[in-house]
Amino acid sequence: MPPRHLYIHIPFCARRCSYCDFSIAVRSVTPIDEYVTGLRRELGGLRQELEGATLDTVYLGGGTPSRLGGLGIGDVLATVRARVRISGAPEITIEANPDDVNDMAVAHWVAAGVNRVSLGSQSFDDAALKWMHRTHDASQIVRAVQTLRRGGIENISLDLIFALPAHLGRSWESDLVRALDLKPAHVSLYGLTVEAQTPIARWADRGATVQGSEESYEDEFLTAHAMMTAAGYDHYEVSNFALPGMTSSHNSGYWTGAPYIGVGPSAHSFDGAIRRWNVAAYSEWIRRLEKGETVIAGEETLTDENRAIERVYLGLRTRRGLEITEDEMGRAQGWRAAGWAVVDDPLQNPRVRLTPMGWLRLDSLATDLAAPSGRPLSATVGPNPSHCYI
Ligand code: SF4
Repeated sequence: MPPRHLYIHIPFCARRCSYCDFSIAVRSVTPIDEYVTGLRRELGGLRQELEGATLDTVYLGGGTPSRLGGLGIGDVLATVRARVRISGAPEITIEANPDDVNDMAVAHWVAAGVNRVSLGSQSFDDAALKWMHRTHDASQIVRAVQTLRRGGIENISLDLIFALPAHLGRSWESDLVRALDLKPAHVSLYGLTVEAQTPIARWADRGATVQGSEESYEDEFLTAHAMMTAAGYDHYEVSNFALPGMTSSHNSGYWTGAPYIGVGPSAHSFDGAIRRWNVAAYSEWIRRLEKGETVIAGEETLTDENRAIERVYLGLRTRRGLEITEDEMGRAQGWRAAGWAVVDDPLQNPRVRLTPMGWLRLDSLATDLAAPSGRPLSATVGPNPSHCYI
């Protein structure tokens, strides 16, 4: 089956956020023409794979895709349209930082076909935003939402980070209230973890900060579930909430194991059997494309065991849950008794769906079901590892 989903990785950021360990390209001036030329070359090399494909979703992720501005995003989408058909009613998402959103850029994005914006908000607390090294303040988030709506984009997703260190004094409830006041169609949540090689890891090493406690992680996750669902949002995936009919089609493709093509530095692709990934560094990606060399850095063919683990892990992430066998029923009933899951239709077509309490134990429950021998989940299991969701 030809892919119906295209992911485009745009690695540029104005500076590194304090929690980010991603392979990004920090540039004060974004090399738009160089990037678009590289993209054209990479897509040109995928002619065979894209033949006969019709895309239902295009996702411009990063990095910070909005650093390409209005015309740059227009060039990217024109480059795509010149090489692959896009369906009549696609979902075309761009990740944007609030400070890149202005009337002119939005007009260009809409003209190019963008109809969904994922806004990197993270918090409405200016001190917390400063600590995160974000390039915007809270008032810019509000202005960005207004500007997007004025320009015709209603399908707006807000990213928020929870489990910040207590010493910041950030109120998670206030942030959720501020987010809900804006009535976004969709909200994505991420729990802060301290990754090696990040500014906050260095701060933690010298005692200048500490990771939020496990209790606060659990409390804030459950608070978000309670407040968001009370406001009419469906908690349809462990990290994602949507108003009715506003789930992310692109990300839902990942969670159902659909094939996708990824282009750009570090992008991953999956054809249903083989997962491959590009070189991560932007400079190397450009160099190889200029020389006519492949940008693929590696690939793996999923074994039956990989597929079984992936089926379990992806199924348990979502509210649809996972079809289970008679053998798995015993474990699922144990989870139900502990309040971690519900079991639907246990006699005919049993399905297990994790509760928010279960989602807090997602990795260990998935391992318990898919790899009861205790073997850890493969690091490659997940929606799309090429993408920094925050
Ligand atoms: S978190 Fe996102 S915006 Fe911040 S540096 Fe990383 S990729 Fe860039």
